[in-house]
Amino acid sequence: MKTEMLFMKDCYLKEFEGKVIERGEDDRGNFVVLDKTIFYPTGGGQPGDRGTLNGIIITAVIKEKGIVKHYTESAIEDNDIKGKLDWERRHEFMRMHTAQHLLSAIVLDKWGSSTAGNQIDKGSSRIDFRPLEPVEDFKEIMTKEFNGWVDKEAPVNIYFSTREAVMNSIDEKRRTLFARIPEFIKDIRVVEIEGIDKVPCGGTHVANTEELGHIVITKVKNKGSKTYRVRFELKK
Ligand SMILES: [Zn+2]
Repeated sequence: MKTEMLFMKDCYLKEFEGKVIERGEDDRGNFVVLDKTIFYPTGGGQPGDRGTLNGIIITAVIKEKGIVKHYTESAIEDNDIKGKLDWERRHEFMRMHTAQHLLSAIVLDKWGSSTAGNQIDKGSSRIDFRPLEPVEDFKEIMTKEFNGWVDKEAPVNIYFSTREAVMNSIDEKRRTLFARIPEFIKDIRVVEIEGIDKVPCGGTHVANTEELGHIVITKVKNKGSKTYRVRFELKK
């Protein structure tokens, strides 16, 4: 039995009730697998969630071979689980992740450069763009564009779609992103920032760009091989 990942449909769930379907212990400590969860497991450049299960602190949430393991400070005895998310921490990651999509969309549309990697974190996050030739006023243009979309209060929609439907509704540049998804996945999770972007993603996101706050690009570094690393922070 697979864990139902409640955050895939609703990123704003802060508490839930579930059941233990497996328990064990490995190098990382005690873990439980649940019938459902609101906890995002580490992956895709986004850190795993924290919070508690029956009041016991979660130390890591990790997905291995499709199984989501919740590691806790001590073993969980009960089969009935009440989970509570560290919402403040998660919401910051949601803001950071949607900000990453928005920044990636701006760079893709303006300069045709792809996102080669990203790491969401507390306080500051980073994205690598490649291939990207030097652009004059890169930082200023990105900042202005980004903040313009925040002020526009654009809705962020998450939905599942077939490959065909989504391929027909996007531009060529984004088709390559969807084409990378394995064939066996029929229901593709789409994250859309209305008016600018539509990409496949399994992460957690805010519902509107107004939640992001304005961006401060703290660093743009030329890493060579046409790769640029951009560091950013979000104002509260
Ligand atoms: Zn994403």
